[in-house]
Amino acid sequence: MPIEYSGRGIDADADAARLRAALNAVELPPALTAIAHLTGDLSLVDQSLRGLPDPAEVLPRPHGGMTDDQRAEAIDRAAAAMADFARNGGRSKGGPSDETLRQLLHFITGPIDDAYLPLLLHELGIPYDRSAPSWTQEDFRPKKPLRVLVIGAGMSGIACSHRLAQAGIEHEVFERGDDVGGVWRENTYPGCRLDTINFGYSYSFAQKNDWPHQFSKRDEVLGYFRDVADSIGLRARTRFGAEVTRLQYDESRRLWLVTSSSAQRGVQTDEFDIVISAVGQLNHPSIPEVPGRDSFQGAQVHTGAWDHSLELAGKSVALVGAGASAFQVGPALVDDVAQLTVFQRNAPWMVPTPAYHDPVTEPMQWLLDRVGPYHRWFRFHQLWSNVEGMRRFARVDEEWADDGLSVSELNLRLRQTLSDRMLERYDDRPDLAEYVVPTYPPFSKRVLRDNGEWARMLKHRNTTLVTSGIERLTVDGIVSNDGSTHAVDAIVWATGFDASNFFQPMEIVGAGGVTLQDFWEGEPRAYLGTSYPGFPNFFSIYGPNTNLAVNGSIVLFSECAIDHILMCLRELLEHNATVVEVRNDTFNEYNDMIDAENSLMAWGASSVTSWYKSASGRISQNSPLPTLDYWKMTHNEVTNAYLFR
Ligand code: NAP
Repeated sequence: MPIEYSGRGIDADADAARLRAALNAVELPPALTAIAHLTGDLSLVDQSLRGLPDPAEVLPRPHGGMTDDQRAEAIDRAAAAMADFARNGGRSKGGPSDETLRQLLHFITGPIDDAYLPLLLHELGIPYDRSAPSWTQEDFRPKKPLRVLVIGAGMSGIACSHRLAQAGIEHEVFERGDDVGGVWRENTYPGCRLDTINFGYSYSFAQKNDWPHQFSKRDEVLGYFRDVADSIGLRARTRFGAEVTRLQYDESRRLWLVTSSSAQRGVQTDEFDIVISAVGQLNHPSIPEVPGRDSFQGAQVHTGAWDHSLELAGKSVALVGAGASAFQVGPALVDDVAQLTVFQRNAPWMVPTPAYHDPVTEPMQWLLDRVGPYHRWFRFHQLWSNVEGMRRFARVDEEWADDGLSVSELNLRLRQTLSDRMLERYDDRPDLAEYVVPTYPPFSKRVLRDNGEWARMLKHRNTTLVTSGIERLTVDGIVSNDGSTHAVDAIVWATGFDASNFFQPMEIVGAGGVTLQDFWEGEPRAYLGTSYPGFPNFFSIYGPNTNLAVNGSIVLFSECAIDHILMCLRELLEHNATVVEVRNDTFNEYNDMIDAENSLMAWGASSVTSWYKSASGRISQNSPLPTLDYWKMTHNEVTNAYLFR
């Protein structure tokens, strides 16, 4: 994907009013930074124009807290800089120097620890892709090139294949589906879209400026992954329809025997030196074992495996669940069905996001078209606000009196702010209001987006909310725990995924014939989500304890893991070794730290059910780490953490 710098530019006179209008309409700091970058006028990013964030505020202040005077002055300067730039031909004089970039970054971040810089410059991708390997396999003249397998062509697999190709490492990708895109291929339920901002939900090496929404719909996100896959030639090295069922490490030959099954080739075993799993966490739909489930004669569908032949219009439908999938599918169905019965066990926390479904505004799109680097700075601005994100609100105060509702003073303040905002939507429905505020601390479960759609659905004349839980299914409906019966034609299970059963259905047999399941003893663990002692030359991306709840970007975390794996491969080649394996002590120390840190986060401290936990209650999915820590740990030298032989 090409990196462009100038955009379509502006006409100094004809576009002057348009530019001012656009600057008045958008979040100013990233627009100013982009214009300073484009024009070279660094007076736009003078610290005197920076707003002062208020640490007491729970929700971020517009324009980073810039005053009206600061905004007026900044817009005057930006308009003048763009007009001069246009009059002088409208072309940038090459990319900015590192010192200039630092000044630009600081306008958004304020004074920061220099340790952040490599991470921030990586994410910005300007003036070049900083994580592209600076080496290729050829540099090490191996006797035999590595044979590498990537399992899965979703978000992580695509990025991994790109980096391997950049390092000149030939590899194959096995993908069980018939196309790339992972969860975005699989999830096709009505209303499916991103609930994180898609400028951020994109690769550092493939940023784009024409997202139609800030929270894109499923087809747009899938289209992005298809485009990236095409641009890196991924399809030619992918075996579609091939599901890996078993990985067996052959100790004497120091390679993996990979058994896969596909309609085309049947069951087949291939040999690879290195196996990288990029299979994700959320792809095995979970439907609860409700008594009588098989006796129900109507239709049943899970959000993660939608059946498009199912006609729900005019039907009486049960929606089970109130999580990230439910809050999208419910509002998308409510107008068409005759009756929607929502079975909510725990209410979801929601953060106000009025523009959640809105297209990118016209002024913003105009700036994106005209000011080349704007999309990168906009993405960067969003990344920065998420780097620490709401982490401090999720951190447990060990002195805090545990009432099950909050974990600290800040968490309580967040609880109050979010509750107030959520309850405003139910002023006219006190009967619902008592059920919509969660009875667990914010951030113990995933926080959803509130643009009023969930409330609209609950208040809809077609909707009934049931909170007493499901006792059993009958031939024609659901009996709830309060003894009521609810006749329905169809049940939509928005009940999530079997997440902590990592890598299923693969059986992974490492050194000494030990399976990964046996090694784990029911507690999935990894070093940095990527490696496992006793499982040499096997890596994973988005493995145990790498899911994010409050800070960072899942795409960035995957890119970090990929950089780390590439560093291991480089070292393997450098040492002329055939085996790379994480050290036992490194692995154990890391996991002790992860467990200790997770116990100090809301999701670890709260007893509420969530997919973040394994059956034992250990947090197996979430990372408690600040983004910078994960960045540093994945980019540290690997020689101390791994054995090469
Ligand atoms: P989820 O967050 O695990 O939610 C499952 C829901 O089903 C919860 O409300 C849960 O209730 C309920 N449930 C489970 N068993 C039940 C039972 N026996 N009776 C009644 N209710 C039951 O699953 P999800 O909504 O599919 O989301 C999973 C993850 O996928 C998200 O956290 C997110 O990471 C990802 N996702 C992302 C997007 C996006 O970006 N657009 C969209 C969808 C999903 P309790 O709360 O009481 O357990």
